[in-house]
Amino acid sequence: MNDCILVINCGSSSIKFALVPLQADHPRPGGLVERLGTSEPVLKITDENGIRQQFDLAGADHPAAMKAILEHLGERQPIAIGHRVVHGGERFKSATLIDDDVIDGIRKCTSLAPLHNPANLDGIEATRRLFPELPQVAVFDTAFHQTMPEHAYRYAIPTELYQKHGIRRYGFHGSSHAYITERLAELSERGTGGWVIAHLGNGCSATAVWQGRSMDTSMGMTPLEGLVMGTRSGDVDPGLHLHLANQCGWSVQQIDQMLNKHSGLMGVSGLSPDMRDLEQAADKGHAGARLALDVFCYRLARTLAALSCALPRLDGIAFTGGIGENSPLVRARALSMMNALRPCLSAAANENLARGSEGRIDQARNDDTTEVRPEIWVIPTDEEGHIARETSELVQTHANHPEART
Ligand code: ADP
Repeated sequence: MNDCILVINCGSSSIKFALVPLQADHPRPGGLVERLGTSEPVLKITDENGIRQQFDLAGADHPAAMKAILEHLGERQPIAIGHRVVHGGERFKSATLIDDDVIDGIRKCTSLAPLHNPANLDGIEATRRLFPELPQVAVFDTAFHQTMPEHAYRYAIPTELYQKHGIRRYGFHGSSHAYITERLAELSERGTGGWVIAHLGNGCSATAVWQGRSMDTSMGMTPLEGLVMGTRSGDVDPGLHLHLANQCGWSVQQIDQMLNKHSGLMGVSGLSPDMRDLEQAADKGHAGARLALDVFCYRLARTLAALSCALPRLDGIAFTGGIGENSPLVRARALSMMNALRPCLSAAANENLARGSEGRIDQARNDDTTEVRPEIWVIPTDEEGHIARETSELVQTHANHPEART
């Protein structure tokens, strides 16, 4: 039987999971537990034959839900568990084998991700109790960006705030950006050169990568900074907070809710946070949807161009995430505003690339000029696959060199 890694992404009210075989072409059963913390949690699971089932988990907490997941995965049991952990602060620069000290380290990063890290820890503690014999690995969203130079990760605020409170830019979506970086090195003749990667899903971030290392990224201390997202604002004037508090009487919680839950595509369109809805509505002339698309694409173009400043040379641009992989409109619109970088999109390749497939969508291959243009790629992301590989490699290394934990 083929070995598998169980990948867990544990939130406060949900657990996403996938049993990832180490042989790439094998099916990947997985699913989701929703509504944890309510009286009616539900487990939705797709098995290795693609058959979907749903189970009520009345009264289940995180450990009970985790047990149910393992029971329903059937005969295939994992050889290790890889946990997605949102914030690793400055301590965790790579995936790490979990022990008590690592749990303590993740807890210490809670002030930087108060909603996410406690939920990730719930998942880790539940699986450690249930499967004490299985090695467990934490794979951090922030770790890939720990290579950023200081001038990219520091805010221009008093140094003391960085030294005492760790206030700096960390970046997120690390597993996705790392996976796309690895894939570009395999796919492109330009290898691990200079790339700008746009991960555009419900959350959106872009990263500049030079020779496989993150040099700068659009998200900051929290995943609110940077690009326009489904319901998150991305960059706003920091003076906005004071204005809303002093002039409009808003509380800090109201401001936080507005920026995280009611802004972005949702806030501008007044219609939906979902790009598919907005493309359809814009097509029918909905003014809010059109504006939301315009703002999204313009900010995206501006950020991609700005990130090229982090690179000695721009070899190409890659799109991923639900929007990046599936929206020719967003790709074309953003690239059309980046003339200074001279991208040369093939309209036909952009439109005709099959949904969910990998491909190059620029014209440069047939270009008979000597000018080197950036390549443009679409690559479906695979965060679960990346977490599984990091987990398996670390477990292997530890088996051969028991002192190695990262
Ligand atoms: P998450 O960040 O939650 O993993 P996804 O990566 O699945 O989210 O991305 C969700 C986004 O992708 C939504 O805005 C959705 O509308 C968009 N999307 C998915 N398919 C399409 C499509 N065919 N055309 C345009 N947008 C799409």
